[in-house]
Amino acid sequence: MLRNDQLDQWDRENFFHPSTHLAQHARGESPTRVVRTGSGCHIEDRDGTRLLDAFAGLYCVNVGYGRSEIAEAIAEQARELAYYHAYVGHGTEAAITLSKMVLDRAPDHMSKVYFGLSGSDANETNIKLIWYYNNIRGLPEKKKIISRWRGYHGSGLMTGSLTGLELFHKKFDLPLAQVIHTEAPYYFRRADRGQSEAAFTAHCVAELEALIEREGADTIAAFIGEPVLGTGGIVPPPAGYWAAIQEVLARHDILLIADEVVTGFGRLGTMFGSEHYGLKPDLITIAKGLTSAYAPLSGSIVSEKMWKVLEQGTDENGPIGHGWTYSAHPIGAAAGVANLQLIDTLNLVPNAGETGAYLNRTMTEALAAHPHVGEVRGEGMLCAVEFVKDRDDRVFFDAGDKVGPQIAAKLLEQDQIIARAMPQGDILGFAPPFCLSREEADRIVAGTVRAVEAVLG
Ligand code: PLP
Repeated sequence: MLRNDQLDQWDRENFFHPSTHLAQHARGESPTRVVRTGSGCHIEDRDGTRLLDAFAGLYCVNVGYGRSEIAEAIAEQARELAYYHAYVGHGTEAAITLSKMVLDRAPDHMSKVYFGLSGSDANETNIKLIWYYNNIRGLPEKKKIISRWRGYHGSGLMTGSLTGLELFHKKFDLPLAQVIHTEAPYYFRRADRGQSEAAFTAHCVAELEALIEREGADTIAAFIGEPVLGTGGIVPPPAGYWAAIQEVLARHDILLIADEVVTGFGRLGTMFGSEHYGLKPDLITIAKGLTSAYAPLSGSIVSEKMWKVLEQGTDENGPIGHGWTYSAHPIGAAAGVANLQLIDTLNLVPNAGETGAYLNRTMTEALAAHPHVGEVRGEGMLCAVEFVKDRDDRVFFDAGDKVGPQIAAKLLEQDQIIARAMPQGDILGFAPPFCLSREEADRIVAGTVRAVEAVLG
């Protein structure tokens, strides 16, 4: 077995890590961690340190680590048939079964699922399908996509543009011209003092209407949003938000993409966030929870309304010019089938709802009154604590103080608990696996209180 110092050296010399400060990493100024194994809500590194992963990797290992049912399904598929493509009508039992399982769980008006590899490529697919759809409908000018500031939809050229976080644009020449952003539905940060949630929702809707008016509805194809803002800060929408937004979109013939990469398959305590908030999307993006990240697989679930036009398009133009070598990869599909079965057998969706509510309640009880906690918020198995310099005047810390990252580091150091310092603002995020127990939730809350006290007093 390789020594840890050898791995560390090779890592810094050869490995280009995503979302990492490249220079600090190469100079050896930031820590590395070589993760070796995992079980339930815990991972273990090569030094034997056991960590409670309260972020389920990147909110994706929803069934928890070390599930042999999924590992065996993957191994069996690899032995029988590791790969065959899905072009021109080819398929595998695993991919066909998974598409049926996805549609059985999706809202009734959805019709087909296109499989990709990542959340980013699934959103890329969505935008291509929307452009194709409007071309077939004879509306070639109707192409712009509205996204929200603080939305997260991936890091490709189009999807990085849709993402409404500065870090993903800066120095990359993004966003692309076809993407326009509107107000973030972030009541705590964006509402005026004393403004009710309903009034703030009305403000978000007015901003959207004004944007549509400025750009012209005949140039706007779609609106993309996560049911709950994820990477932008774990922010559930203000009261009445989705109903009001959908009314505007319907009036202007603007399609809705529900990006359910985080919320799909149970994270809010319902199978889909669309069900949770009464969304009727034209496309649903799925990834992470589809396989609980045991293998890379994503999907674009297409509504019947769009499907009919796509069919017409291929009658007029020939086969659809969109495919990845690894679309519907059999190993990913086998992982997906085993994962969705396990979610049902272990009753994990209700557990995400119930234990998630317990985590949110106990975190609120423990921290909401702290003078530097502005808000504790969440929904289902998503929870966030946002820190402020001055609570009464809602003054935020300077980004350079790195308060959020410091608290996350303390939590790790003192209690071996992983939470995520969200990328924009001092926000500590929690998104544990759905199998989290109440005892583990208690550990997370107690550890967070200790970390907050250590950094902020
Ligand atoms: N959409 C949402 C809502 C996400 O949270 C993410 C990733 O975190 C993506 C899309 C992109 O997924 P991927 O990183 O698999 O490309």
